[in-house]
Amino acid sequence: MKIKMLDLNQQYLSLKEDLIEKLNEVMMSTNFILGSNVKKLEDDVAKYSKARYGVGVGNGSDAIHIALQAAGVGEGDEVITSSFTFFATGGAIARANATPVFVDIDPDTFNIDPQKIEEAITNKTKAIIPVHLYGQMADMEVIKEIAEKHNLVVIEDAAQAIGAKRNGKTVGELGTAATYSFFPTKNLGAYGDGGMIVTDNEEVAENARVIRVHGSKPKYHHHVLGYNSRLDELQAAILNVKFPHLEKWSAARRERANYYTQHFNDMLKDIVTTPIEKEGNYHVYHQYTLRVPDRDALQAYLKEQGIATMIYYPIPLHMQPVFSDLGYSDGDLPHAEKAAKEVLSLPMYPELEKEKQDYVIEKIVNFYKK
Ligand SMILES: *Cc1c(COP(=O)(O)O)cnc(C)c1O
Repeated sequence: MKIKMLDLNQQYLSLKEDLIEKLNEVMMSTNFILGSNVKKLEDDVAKYSKARYGVGVGNGSDAIHIALQAAGVGEGDEVITSSFTFFATGGAIARANATPVFVDIDPDTFNIDPQKIEEAITNKTKAIIPVHLYGQMADMEVIKEIAEKHNLVVIEDAAQAIGAKRNGKTVGELGTAATYSFFPTKNLGAYGDGGMIVTDNEEVAENARVIRVHGSKPKYHHHVLGYNSRLDELQAAILNVKFPHLEKWSAARRERANYYTQHFNDMLKDIVTTPIEKEGNYHVYHQYTLRVPDRDALQAYLKEQGIATMIYYPIPLHMQPVFSDLGYSDGDLPHAEKAAKEVLSLPMYPELEKEKQDYVIEKIVNFYKK
């Protein structure tokens, strides 16, 4: 058997007619840039995130960068974020000319530890970027409290967590803004790059709209330095077809995650650590990630058995060569460093069949029992 991390073909085939019709509509309209599909998706995703405004941009990395700039974060400012995330989170801070301040994670959830945020605040701190890693929301209530106490901006990096909730609050509800990625592998994936900022703050939304079109307002008048970073109309048309299915897909991911977890807890209880869903959280399992002993050998063994797995992420951001100027060293953020050595993400997508999950479970059990 061959098992991929995700299978986008099945989803495509289930929506093929609708998708082709929608793409044809856009091509016939010749309205390719910031047309009615982008507007509709912005409205729908903002509403879904309990935010007033949505601003479609080129990708999820630009969404973070533009949100920071739109919220007034830049040169001389420090931005606190998790070290255990995809590079784009730290990269966006540096590209906004601010200084990333990396802090450690809660080892249970892999999300930023609010206690460590408090400890890292200085008089230069301007913003916090919690990352809702793997699809589980960070501790937003506490983060919001800290932000209010210190008058900080909060940009939620929700690239992996569209549709996640915590204690009845959705992603985007408590932060100054939240950012999404529509990279093809994300829970709501386009057929190319795409991203969005959602916010309740009218000024942040307006600034972001100006920044995504070269800082042009009115047209051909430039008071701020912007970029060309827009959500493509064809991608928005695709996403408008997919979006109504998102809740169902999230539920399917949760079912598959529970299936893995039950079996691993039955058969490998003291060997592997299954994902810990914190009380009150609705985890949308962008990734199903175990902590395992002898991780690299397990990964190689599974590969021989035809099972793809991934390591998200092998090097925490404070240890990345490009950030060496920041002066971190080995051992500074022990939980992030330990997680980087132990995590392994398994195949996970809404259409994943039970027989495939059984095969993955069987091979992992074999590895540890031999
Ligand atoms: C995917 C991702 C991004 C970047 O999104 P792109 O659309 O690929 O630019 C940012 N942060 C996290 C946590 C991600 O997973």
